[in-house]
Amino acid sequence: MLYAIISDIHGNLEALDAVLAAIKADKIICLGDIVGYGPNPKECLEKIKALNIPTVAGNHEKALLGEVDTKWFNERAKLAIEWTSTQVDLAAIKDLPTVGEEAGFHYVHASLRDHVNEYMMSISEALATFELMTKPLCFIGHTHRPGYLARKKDGFYESRSLHDGDELLAYDFDRLIINVGSVGQPRDRDPRAAYGIFDTQTRLFSLHRSSYDIQQVQEKMRAVNLPQKLIDRLATGS
Ligand code: ZN
Repeated sequence: MLYAIISDIHGNLEALDAVLAAIKADKIICLGDIVGYGPNPKECLEKIKALNIPTVAGNHEKALLGEVDTKWFNERAKLAIEWTSTQVDLAAIKDLPTVGEEAGFHYVHASLRDHVNEYMMSISEALATFELMTKPLCFIGHTHRPGYLARKKDGFYESRSLHDGDELLAYDFDRLIINVGSVGQPRDRDPRAAYGIFDTQTRLFSLHRSSYDIQQVQEKMRAVNLPQKLIDRLATGS
């Protein structure tokens, strides 16, 4: 079975459409943060729902629901959340689970220790999640930087960033956490939308990037007065 894993769409409909057009998979899974930052949160939620894509909540959904305190958000993110709250029907997100699983892997927005908030950037932060995993593989998003954190079969640890076309064989690891990056607001200096493909038969994961019309999204953001820094960063992927 071929899975596509997408995350952190952040109201960027052009990026979502580009990824959906590029994906060839039997099933798509979404790791949350469908809303926040971008100009089309409602349309992105509707599209994910219309396609019956299983989704877990991210910190931006939880912030909209008032379940995550926005004091942890910077000023720009807070402004974007306030604007997003005027656009989105909360009923569409209130029942999202925060963690899910399929045969052979877990999926969660941030980490298994803290489903929506923890930033796992290094092995030391991943240790708790390695212990909580009952399956060898876990997909995450949240940092907007594609990569992996792993405990190898020899007991040593390994972490690397992943770029367009990179492949990873899950068989090689005892515990493997893969960050699929962000569809709608990449932060690894590659502005193209990111997503992952996982083949359960070969256990091969591959990371992919799709170009989309960034200027069109920036114009929409300007039209609704979203913060300039959020507009600028789409073009640089930072
Ligand atoms: Zn995010």
